[in-house]
Amino acid sequence: MATASIETDYLIVGAGAVGMAFADVLLSESDADIVIVDSHHQPGGHWNDAYPFVRLHQPSAFYGVSSRQLGSGKVDAVGLNEGLYELATGAEVRAYFVDVMQQQFLPSGRVRFFPMSDYTGEGQFVSRLTGETHTVKAKRHVDATWLKTSVPSTHTPSFSIADGVRFVTPNQLPGITEPPKQFVIVGGGKTGIDTAIWLLDQGVDAARIQWIMPRDAWLLNRKKTQPGIEFFEHSIGAQADQMAAIAEAGSIEDLFDRLEAAGMMLRIDRSVRPEMFHGATVSEAEVDALRQIDGIVRMGRVSEIAPGKIVLDGGTLDVDPEAVIIDCSARAIPNTKIKPIFEGDSITPQTVRAYLPVFSAAFIAHIDLAYRSDAVRNQFCSVVPLPDSLPDWLHMTAINSANQFRWSQEPELRRWLRDNRLDGFGKIASEIPKDDMDKRAVIQRLRENAAPAMANLQRLAAAAG
Ligand SMILES: Cc1cc2nc3c(=O)[nH]c(=O)nc-3n(C[C@H](O)[C@H](O)[C@H](O)COP(=O)(O)OP(=O)(O)OC[C@H]3O[C@@H](n4cnc5c(N)ncnc54)[C@H](O)[C@@H]3O)c2cc1C
Repeated sequence: MATASIETDYLIVGAGAVGMAFADVLLSESDADIVIVDSHHQPGGHWNDAYPFVRLHQPSAFYGVSSRQLGSGKVDAVGLNEGLYELATGAEVRAYFVDVMQQQFLPSGRVRFFPMSDYTGEGQFVSRLTGETHTVKAKRHVDATWLKTSVPSTHTPSFSIADGVRFVTPNQLPGITEPPKQFVIVGGGKTGIDTAIWLLDQGVDAARIQWIMPRDAWLLNRKKTQPGIEFFEHSIGAQADQMAAIAEAGSIEDLFDRLEAAGMMLRIDRSVRPEMFHGATVSEAEVDALRQIDGIVRMGRVSEIAPGKIVLDGGTLDVDPEAVIIDCSARAIPNTKIKPIFEGDSITPQTVRAYLPVFSAAFIAHIDLAYRSDAVRNQFCSVVPLPDSLPDWLHMTAINSANQFRWSQEPELRRWLRDNRLDGFGKIASEIPKDDMDKRAVIQRLRENAAPAMANLQRLAAAAG
């Protein structure tokens, strides 16, 4: 098969949100030439495989690439996100990334995009359609595939499924024509939440839904992550509340109780103490809707599904033999491994601010361009690990806060953060009028609690083991 050679400044593998956000900053802040390779047919990564009713769980206002707004910046007037900033649908996210590629990247003349191509390592990629192999000589190699995002339509479940079971992914739900007596959702993460809400929204009686939830999760309250100044008391106020809670908590349980009392953390069942935290973000109205479902099954993880029964760690669950069983067991970001972001010619974007992999990719691209040594770059970019358990939340918050502090010491980075749309909150914090004493008091409370909070965080983390 034919081979071709290409020279470029940056080879980016992965045209998902991370690769796109990275390339966008290179285009805006340098004159670099860029080659992007992806095995999908268009940019957008996992959003190309998403279920049809997926939406962002954070406001569109701070998702996508730095240079282009996503959505119309409106507040939803109806639905379970009413009163909060709009959440792009999967279709909107896909169309957005296609527009970024077609209207910005390719017309720049500095980006060459190779879709339907598998990167095989050592600077080589192979077209899935022509079989042609390209060899790329690049000054920088960017691995924008590190998060290994996993969604139900492309992952392999970890349990066995016997013939005759009506086992579907959420993608197949809108194709159902025969109403089943029962729906069984497997998985307590964000996909399980989205699926339960969609079924309820379609008019399915909550009594017909069984929800297999190996672990309950603490959920972030979306009202506390709103970007507009009118939400200042909620968003910046929540950060001040969080600092105070961390400073004053006597134990990890006490800390989460305080975060719940401050409205930052939500849980579906107030009688169950969650053990999981993956950063899923929901509205209060969504949680209220989910509370209609009584059939929550807390019997551990599924090992086997056969017609009429589901085998779990904690026993066997009888279900209707015709039940539709929905696989929501893919872990969105399964790769919790971390490595240095800057290593010679290689750059591996990871999360440098909690919950925001896309902001992180843009920030890392800026750091690559603005600073010369890998040691300095990595100092600005400590990897904020992705959380799974409650102690992980402590670790995540400690590193996240240390990064924020480090960045705040650099006037150039402060400016960059304030002007970057993916930052979400930098702008509102910097735009408080001098005479707005209420808002200034919130900032003051945040600052006053910062040092005691960081000291207590270490103590809580040591006690949590
Ligand atoms: C349902 C869902 C909702 C989410 N909502 C949010 C949200 O609201 N806010 C938020 O911040 N995050 C959200 N996330 C997290 C999400 O993972 C990130 O926002 C982001 O989309 C991840 O992008 P990525 O580029 O790292 O990964 P991906 O989207 O997986 O992109 C990686 C790309 O690399 C390609 N690739 C991999 N290996 C190769 C190879 N060898 N050769 C060629 N190409 C390769 C893949 O085909 C893919 O297109 C959500 C995740 C899910 C699953």
